[in-house]
Amino acid sequence: MMFKTHLAFGFLISLLVVKFFSVPYPLLFIPLVTILSGLPDIDHPKSKYGRKLFFLSIPISLFFKHRGFFHSIFPPLIGFFLLQYFGMPFLGLALVVGYCSHLLGDCVTKEGINFLHPFSTFRIQGPITTGHVIESFLFVIIMLANAYFILNILNIL
Ligand SMILES: [Zn+2]
Repeated sequence: MMFKTHLAFGFLISLLVVKFFSVPYPLLFIPLVTILSGLPDIDHPKSKYGRKLFFLSIPISLFFKHRGFFHSIFPPLIGFFLLQYFGMPFLGLALVVGYCSHLLGDCVTKEGINFLHPFSTFRIQGPITTGHVIESFLFVIIMLANAYFILNILNIL
């Protein structure tokens, strides 16, 4: 999926987590999850974060293929335990939620996601071509859901 769709979906997931679970500092949690939802594409130097964080994405892309290890569940899990260990469980939780929202989002695309790479070759794939008009349609639906849940959380509806 495109960068903006990932951010919109990460934002939606963060709203749902804040709504249905008791998360401390929701006003910090929501933007953190949203920002971190773009992170897996660090394995691609031409992606939005890949270009900004080229000093990371270029070495990463030499050793890992796009949508390989960095699109599996292992980086957020390793990151979660490291952040937990170093006394930052809040950031660890935001990382897991944001990162996994990205992986879920990529599941609907034709390239799909292999959650257990490199230990399995099983990919979950969907019908959507990244950047296709159907993705734009999906983006609009996600944004409408975002508006609904913002109003819902603010108890306006
Ligand atoms: Zn991706």
